[in-house]
Amino acid sequence: MECPYCRLESIRTLETRDSQNNTVRRRKECLNCGKRFTTYEYIESVELMVRKRDGRIERFDLNKIIRGVQKACEKRPVSMEQIRNLAERARQNFMMRGKGEISSQEIGDLVAKYLKKLDRIAYIRFASVYRQFEEPEDFRRILKEVRK
Ligand SMILES: [Zn+2]
Repeated sequence: MECPYCRLESIRTLETRDSQNNTVRRRKECLNCGKRFTTYEYIESVELMVRKRDGRIERFDLNKIIRGVQKACEKRPVSMEQIRNLAERARQNFMMRGKGEISSQEIGDLVAKYLKKLDRIAYIRFASVYRQFEEPEDFRRILKEVRK
């Protein structure tokens, strides 16, 4: 960047600070004229991270959701476009939460919820993988939900 006073590009950063609402505040100094000024950078998209069941953290991957839903929708009357839309809606929902980190459980729950409205068979398949059915009762409960 150039100095707002003398227009030369000889700036050094004195101090960097995180502020609220995803902004970074930087105190800068021009090496040419010696004037000081402050810049604010807005970080538009905070990278979304996923905390897995075993505690590991990885980058949010939209394609993973698409693949999972695709698998559940095999031979079902659901188009690729619908699957992409569903995954994109889920991503936007997580971004809106503004936490920067979500659990794989939260992803599974939301995707299952969307899928339930789209195709009930696909929903059962998806839920059976995602929720891993730790209890046989879980499976009975889901079958019951679907019959409603
Ligand atoms: Zn200057």
